[in-house]
Amino acid sequence: RTDRKIALVTGANKGIGRATAEQFAALGMTVLIGARDPRRGEEAATAVRAAGGDAHPVTLDVTDAGTARAAARWIEGRFGRLDVLVNNAGITGSGQVSPADAHDQVPSSVDLDMVRSVFETNVFGVIAVTNALLPLLRRSPAPRIVNVSSHAASLTLSSDPDGPLAGLLPSAAYSPAKTALSALTVQYANELRKDGILVNAVAPGFCATDSNNHTGFLTPAQGAAVVVRLATLGADGPTAGFFGADGPLPW
Ligand code: NDP
Repeated sequence: RTDRKIALVTGANKGIGRATAEQFAALGMTVLIGARDPRRGEEAATAVRAAGGDAHPVTLDVTDAGTARAAARWIEGRFGRLDVLVNNAGITGSGQVSPADAHDQVPSSVDLDMVRSVFETNVFGVIAVTNALLPLLRRSPAPRIVNVSSHAASLTLSSDPDGPLAGLLPSAAYSPAKTALSALTVQYANELRKDGILVNAVAPGFCATDSNNHTGFLTPAQGAAVVVRLATLGADGPTAGFFGADGPLPW
């Protein structure tokens, strides 16, 4: 058992999730590196430990609720609680193409199976993982849940023809899935408010990762900073909110 904060990040073997895990470790937290591939999880945990952090790999495929329950049992046995859950694992559905350039997501011609797979990972996976871990979060003195969303989730920004997202191709998969994640964030926050569990969504900004073939203009570490900020809120911090690097974002 430990006095360090325990944080689980899904999809932490690379990209923004990995950078989030590194920043948690640098803050002295124990980081649990969620990865669907145990070998890649072990590699990332080894690297975080080599940099002086306390990191442990946890096998977790968010589309497989059984792995989420098994992860919860392992965390319970080892640590007895969880302080922070970051639902970061996500897919664009379009391979190594930025969601902004994904012609295969245009609503009138989208493949419905692709839409289903994006929702399976980016939305239903969040429910499976959150529900498996909630009993352990309830044992934390200051539990926090951060859902990694996107500016593309915002209906306000998406429906503004002159707004900052005007250049994006219409998407029937990635954007609606992130909008659904926004809706889930609010509903979880409302249920868990009385228990002191703060639940927020964040948009990391366009970061260079495998998900966009490294075309993003921010580093994963820059994107992770807003995740870390919402994961380390004080007791008077917001819940049911949506935040980017510069503050609150419109739903
Ligand atoms: P990456 O592709 O670099 O990393 C995605 C991570 O999610 C990987 O670890 C991947 O594992 C994991 N993952 C995918 N599917 C599953 C699954 N079923 N179970 C467990 N893990 C899974 O992407 P990013 O770091 O760019 O994205 C991280 C999050 O940030 C996503 O939710 C994304 O939508 C969001 N985001 C990213 C932006 C960007 O500009 N990069 C902008 C806005 C939001 P594996 O290595 O096994 O594939």
